[in-house]
Amino acid sequence: MPDLLDLLHSTFGFNDFRGVQRQVVDRVMAGDRTLAVMPTGAGKSLCYQLPAVALEGTCVVISPLIALMHDQLRAATAVGIRAATLTSADDNRVETIERFKAGDLDLLYVAPERASAGHFRELLSRAKVALFAIDEAHCVSEWGHDFRPDYRLLRPLLDSFPDVPRLALTATADAHTRDDILVQLGIPTDGLIVAGFDRPNIRYAISPRQNTTQQIADLLREQPGPGIVYVQSRAGTEKLAAQIAATGRPVRAYHAGLEPQIRAANQAAFVASEEMVMVATVAFGMGIDKPDVRFVAHAGLPKSIEAYYQETGRAGRDGEPAVAHMFWGADDFAKARQRLGEVDEIRLPGERARLTALGGLVETPSCRRALLLRYFGEHPPEACGNCDNCLSPPQGVDATELARKYLSA
Ligand code: ADP
Ligand code: MG
Repeated sequence: MPDLLDLLHSTFGFNDFRGVQRQVVDRVMAGDRTLAVMPTGAGKSLCYQLPAVALEGTCVVISPLIALMHDQLRAATAVGIRAATLTSADDNRVETIERFKAGDLDLLYVAPERASAGHFRELLSRAKVALFAIDEAHCVSEWGHDFRPDYRLLRPLLDSFPDVPRLALTATADAHTRDDILVQLGIPTDGLIVAGFDRPNIRYAISPRQNTTQQIADLLREQPGPGIVYVQSRAGTEKLAAQIAATGRPVRAYHAGLEPQIRAANQAAFVASEEMVMVATVAFGMGIDKPDVRFVAHAGLPKSIEAYYQETGRAGRDGEPAVAHMFWGADDFAKARQRLGEVDEIRLPGERARLTALGGLVETPSCRRALLLRYFGEHPPEACGNCDNCLSPPQGVDATELARKYLSA
């Protein structure tokens, strides 16, 4: 077997494994079923791509979005990995199937609905499958924030190939979701590997909303570098962007309702700029690689703690100091509670728990980072020294009282 470090270097051009990558890859190479929980950007793909190259046979990757698959395909092909996607959007399916059967693929990306079809199982039995990688594995759990019923159909498929190792990967799993993924995908509890979620250079601050425009303007004055302001509505992004433009600061807006060319141009301008503000809905940010984002502001409550962590995590990827500031209002909670009324019974407990956790985050008089990290299953020190509550402890707040006020239905 080739030396893994040599392969890491020769195939990917990396000098070393990062964080828990080595641990995950070693388990996969040993054939052990594994769930890797690693934050976005930690390098989850490598955990199956490297074994895919090292092992004989093909690694079948289940991925929820065709766009994601095609991004991955481009990246893998660029470094010389033999990869293909098998989706309704591909017109070379016949060729791909032939390559798969001939053992001519390291990686084959498929969507969960294909994976659950009977003829796909037959195809797998006529090829050599080295590994099943289940990306975005939280989709298998009703506790997760992005449940996909098709993911539930994976288990019988995996179980019909009991000797093929399986690796589930996710960035966003609270303890409940995580336990559920293990059960749903048949992974033993000792197969769980959790990477460090701490982003020590990000300073967290959370304030009640008074005058959002004024509060954002104050923040922008303190933060000259590039930053993102998340706004809840499409119209809201354009309105706030116009207000910021009036102050002379370079600014763009981004939301799913803009023409694709405008969206792409705004994104490119932001990525290239050292001072631009991007006012955006949460449609902005996935797959954007800008290391020097100095602040992420939320003009309103994010959807969940996972979403908050993911969105704020776009700040300070270069390791230099960065700020994450959220401005929330009681009406955000009122709206969120209202939405709970529209959720079906199965999802209700999960959604309710998510909202309660968010309530805890905004109301805590203690360390924000400690609360976040505990939510992700870590055991952090009680105070981080780099969040608003550690830097200036709040006086006389009865958090329980406040939480009750905002959360009681
Ligand atoms: P995730 O899926 O966890 O969000 P990706 O797999 O997309 O992360 O990887 C994020 C980035 O990190 C990619 O640009 C990838 O090339 C890079 N990367 C992954 N592993 C390493 C490593 N060991 N050394 C350096 N860069 C790495
Ligand atoms: Mg990924």
